[in-house]
Amino acid sequence: MYRCFLNLNPDERLLVKSIAYCLLITFISFSNPVWAADDPSSPANESHFTLWQLPNQTGTQIMSYVMKTTQGALIVVDGGMPGDAPYLANFLKERGNVVEAWFISHPHTDHFSALSEILKKPGDLKIKAIYASLLPPAWIDKNASEGEAKLYHEFVATVAASEHVIQEVSPDQSFNFDGVSIEVLAVKNPEITHNGINNSSMVFKVTDSKKSVLFTGDLGVEGGEKLLKSPMAERLKADYIQMAHHGQTGVSEAFYQHVAPRFCLWPTPLWLWDVDNGGGKGSGPWKTLEVRAWMEKLSIEKHYNMHEGLQVIE
Ligand SMILES: [Zn+2]
Repeated sequence: MYRCFLNLNPDERLLVKSIAYCLLITFISFSNPVWAADDPSSPANESHFTLWQLPNQTGTQIMSYVMKTTQGALIVVDGGMPGDAPYLANFLKERGNVVEAWFISHPHTDHFSALSEILKKPGDLKIKAIYASLLPPAWIDKNASEGEAKLYHEFVATVAASEHVIQEVSPDQSFNFDGVSIEVLAVKNPEITHNGINNSSMVFKVTDSKKSVLFTGDLGVEGGEKLLKSPMAERLKADYIQMAHHGQTGVSEAFYQHVAPRFCLWPTPLWLWDVDNGGGKGSGPWKTLEVRAWMEKLSIEKHYNMHEGLQVIE
């Protein structure tokens, strides 16, 4: 009843060949795990972390970020002032209350004081590790202002009185949390005494299969130039950049050009965004408007502004 393949006419042979080819392709698509892993919608690629830029609670400039891996691990960067602590503590509580790693970019009050407050009354919050690259006390006493030194010593004492220790990071150190990579690209620069604490900001890059985010803390021009000349410079390119020193007098334009971000994270209150010291836009001494003009030239796709409230990046 059925004719053999060789007995079919050319049109019928072509039809049979086409059906066989389709069946083969379908089989390979469903059976080959390498192909599946290349599909961005496949479970193998669902290692994307969520990043939140938290809004300030007291009107001052602050820096506070929380990241969450797909497995629920929380990573915190800085945290803000004492007045930001209740909001941050509640934010962490709603997301499981276990912090895998807490990074302090540098020892200034608008970055570490929320952590200080939380360490005094941690409640049920569990913090597994605190990482920083701290300038030593003798450097602070010699080079920092009286106010900076007082707050630095209070912070170190608060951590010492808690059950935690600050773990020093080293250049090129890397971490991995559920497929999210964190690379330390720069640490303290004790030889830079001008704008010294800011210029000793830890710089690190967080990367997953979807995006990369460069954190610069409050890095200044000198620390940025040193990093650009270091072997780490080739690893600075990132999709997102946290604007250095709240987007005011931070790193140079050349630094931003080198990173070539598509998205900017601004831990910047509205008065600083508009350089408004009470006398209207542009009335203050800060360089934010100039930095905003630099970013215009880079054709940034989106700006995430702290003054517009909680920002989320998937
Ligand atoms: Zn700051």
